[in-house]
Order: sequence, then structure tokens, then C-alpha cells
Amino acid sequence: MRFAYYTLRHCSMCTSTILLSGIPRAVIGENQTFMGSDSLLREHGVELDVRQDKQCIGLMPQFIKQSPELWNEDIGE
Ligand SMILES: [Zn+2]
Repeated sequence: MRFAYYTLRHCSMCTSTILLSGIPRAVIGENQTFMGSDSLLREHGVELDVRQDKQCIGLMPQFIKQSPELWNEDIGE
């Protein structure tokens, strides 16, 4: 069985990839940094396993502080 693994919540592009690839389960390190919507995946029967992993939660603010231009580009701002 195939899974998708993410440090933080999936963006729209990742959501499309999960759906088009027929991936049944996504494991997400944390969903606090990036506020997206889980409903589309759930509506299509994808199981979401959100871990709220402390290491993942700690990584993102560090990355955003070090590379704000990359983060803003990634989230479309
Ligand atoms: Zn993504």
C-alpha cells in the first residue's frame, strides 16, 4: 500500500497529487504551520494521520525564519 508523507500539511498541489495517484493514506507531521483544507481528501476517502510531531513543529519556524522568500513562494505569497 502506498502512503504519502509530509512534514507539514499538504498544499493544493500535493492534494491533487494524492488524489490523481490514488494514494489512500497521508501521514502529516504537523498541521499548525500551514492552514489548508483536509476536507477534499477526506471526501475522497483518503485517510489523514496528523501526528503533531514536535520535531516537525520545531523545524518549520526555523526554516521560515532562515528562508522567508522560499516559504512565501511555496505558499503562493
Ligand atoms: Zn505541497
